[in-house]
Amino acid sequence: MANDLLAHDNHTFELNDIKVNFRRHRFARRITIKIQPFKGVNVTVPMRATLDSAHDFVLHKKEWIKSSLEKMRQVEEREMRLSKDLPKIDLAAAAKLLHERTDFLARQNGFAYNRIFIRRQKTLWGSCSAKKDLSLNAALAALPQDVMDYVIIHELTHTVIRNHGKEFWRRITLILPHAPVLRRRLRNYRYFSAC
Ligand SMILES: [Zn+2]
Repeated sequence: MANDLLAHDNHTFELNDIKVNFRRHRFARRITIKIQPFKGVNVTVPMRATLDSAHDFVLHKKEWIKSSLEKMRQVEEREMRLSKDLPKIDLAAAAKLLHERTDFLARQNGFAYNRIFIRRQKTLWGSCSAKKDLSLNAALAALPQDVMDYVIIHELTHTVIRNHGKEFWRRITLILPHAPVLRRRLRNYRYFSAC
């Protein structure tokens, strides 16, 4: 009977797209949150604590969980880099995806660009000309969406600020608070050619 109750209490809870697994533990003395690569967010709940108090605890730590997860993704990607290549993606599919995403992000954040070119490039993820023409590497389409978005937002921000000064980074982090982490994660893919 006690075991049935335990199993019933173990569950997954969605916190703004983040999956949080709750698990009752007989010997736990307090509620603890553990975030590990490839294992996600796991919360240990002592027998005496109510599930409501465990949920409240997690909600209270939401920002900390988010930034820890970002760091964890860096670690996961570094590990995956050692074991496998990015999936192949064809140029037409990459172009369609990147056109749509750029259009969406530009409208969402009030940027205006001129033309957009999707190319297979060996050295650059993206660039923005003085005429506000964007050039994006087709390989971006094979990256995780948040890393891809970082590059697009980076180039869109260049339509307003050409240099990489303080104001440039301030603008980017207003849109993507984790931009510095995303930038570091992008480096994991430096040697990949996905197309
Ligand atoms: Zn730049």
